[in-house]
Amino acid sequence: MKAAVAYDFKDIRVEDTQVPDVGPREALVKIAACGICSGDVMPWYIRKKAPIVLGHEPAGTIVEIGNEVKGFKVGDRVAMHHHAPCFTCRFCRRGDCVQCDTWRKSKLVPGGIAEYVKIPEENLSGDTLLIPDSVSMEDATLTEPTACVVKGFKRARIRQGDIVLVQGLGTMGQLNILLAKHYGAKMVIAADFNKYRCDHARMMGADVVINLKERDLFEAVKAVTGGMMADIVVVGPSSIKAMEDGIKCCGRGGTILLFTPTPKEENLLINPHDIYFNEVSLVPSYSCGPFDTREALELIEMGVVSAEKIVTHRFPLEKTGEAFGVTADAGDSIKTLVLI
Ligand SMILES: [Zn+2]
Ligand SMILES: [Zn+2]
Repeated sequence: MKAAVAYDFKDIRVEDTQVPDVGPREALVKIAACGICSGDVMPWYIRKKAPIVLGHEPAGTIVEIGNEVKGFKVGDRVAMHHHAPCFTCRFCRRGDCVQCDTWRKSKLVPGGIAEYVKIPEENLSGDTLLIPDSVSMEDATLTEPTACVVKGFKRARIRQGDIVLVQGLGTMGQLNILLAKHYGAKMVIAADFNKYRCDHARMMGADVVINLKERDLFEAVKAVTGGMMADIVVVGPSSIKAMEDGIKCCGRGGTILLFTPTPKEENLLINPHDIYFNEVSLVPSYSCGPFDTREALELIEMGVVSAEKIVTHRFPLEKTGEAFGVTADAGDSIKTLVLI
């Protein structure tokens, strides 16, 4: 079979490789489509893991199944999460599934951007979802990214009537707008340097869109909120500057949701005086767990999220390198899929 192997940032090769063997409690899926995540194009992240078959947003059809598997059969359309927890450890019992050792070790084999992918036992029993008939394969690839947003807003404790600022309007930014509106935000403010992405945010329902090439973020947020600033600031970009700007735009009693990591060696300077008296929370949200993916697929089934709203670019497997290029450029695109 063919799979897209990343050797370095901008060095993606489509290679022939072995179809994985399937054990008694595993399943083999013929992949229909796989999303590319902005996390997949962070150079330091790729270099740490290369060579690697990237792609953790796949959807496909089960073509082979182990004889001890219950609940799934050949022909089932599935969206499977790349990681699945044990459900029994200290972290899992607290709901912190991504801190679970099993979650961190588990992975789809060889990775989502391949013709066939093996779902290991933990992933199959723990976080593989049947795709409802009304949901297309393209829609289903949005399960994982949507689940990350579901989890983020849970952690940020979004409330009806909140003012939500979304910094960075790539796929995650656009999904954050859709879900903030769905959860009852009174005002969603969206900010980016790219005009195409700003225009797209308006279509997704953002009430105020700030093109950062034209307006200063702090001044603009201050003006539209009458000085109240935002109740929740979702910081999308992987940069200290974006985090600093986000902190400035967070109102009293508000929450800054850190949605993306920075490289390990970078530090963020905070002012404990302001954080204390304003009771501002800094809340990170990393990936998602099995409860979030289920909620996400329901939101997709309801039409809150769809490929039609989010997917702008599609490439065949042979052109995976180009697909990564479009995602890495973060320009006139939102979500890029590889169709297999
Ligand atoms: Zn992702
Ligand atoms: Zn666990």
